[in-house]
Amino acid sequence: MRDGVKKAFLQACINHGSLSTEQINDVLPPICQTYDADDALDVKKLVLEINNDLKELNQELSFIKHPLLDKEFLVFGLTFETLASKHQQHYTEADQMYFAKLVEIMAPQEDYSISWVDMYNLSSLTPTARKHLPKTRIQFLVKKWTDQGYFLEMDDKIYFGPRMLVEYASHLKTHYSDYIKDCPLCKKIVLWDIKCSGCGAKVHKECIRTFLKRNSNCPACSNVWSTALN
Ligand SMILES: [Zn+2]
Ligand SMILES: [Zn+2]
Repeated sequence: MRDGVKKAFLQACINHGSLSTEQINDVLPPICQTYDADDALDVKKLVLEINNDLKELNQELSFIKHPLLDKEFLVFGLTFETLASKHQQHYTEADQMYFAKLVEIMAPQEDYSISWVDMYNLSSLTPTARKHLPKTRIQFLVKKWTDQGYFLEMDDKIYFGPRMLVEYASHLKTHYSDYIKDCPLCKKIVLWDIKCSGCGAKVHKECIRTFLKRNSNCPACSNVWSTALN
């Protein structure tokens, strides 16, 4: 019974790629009802149990707060290291190259975004890839990757989505270490959040808020913290 809930909920997570709290509240109760398992409604506990089963498969469910939306998501992610291994099954070589190029262009940007205009005109694509990627294919791919949680569309731009922050965290930190680092407090990837005006280190808002209750200095440079927290 509980195994049924776990299986069905995991399948929902895989299908969606990433689930907001509202989506979880839509998806989970009917599943519990089907399997007559009201005790499975504790999502955090359910996710822990599912992750235990997933370990050997290099898969993982994780909760992540997306700072641009200020919302928490449950993300299904593969924990393999390489970019290509995650996309091999469903995408052509040109598609995969396009994904990699998008990441390459977005990672060094101050807000980790790209505009639609730039997305249609990626200059670093090979002529062959370009031939396989007409505007309609690009629209299809970006829509699909957005639905899966890799990207996030806001104000006519595309940003890194919740799933990217989980699945590609170590890729991003390794390959774009000048631009993307860990939060000095929780040691997890930090992108937008808040910057120390002294040293420029980025820190999660929630982490620094908690930290400043007992401290007054930047956890990275030790100078007095002077950036407003709102
Ligand atoms: Zn943090
Ligand atoms: Zn600092």
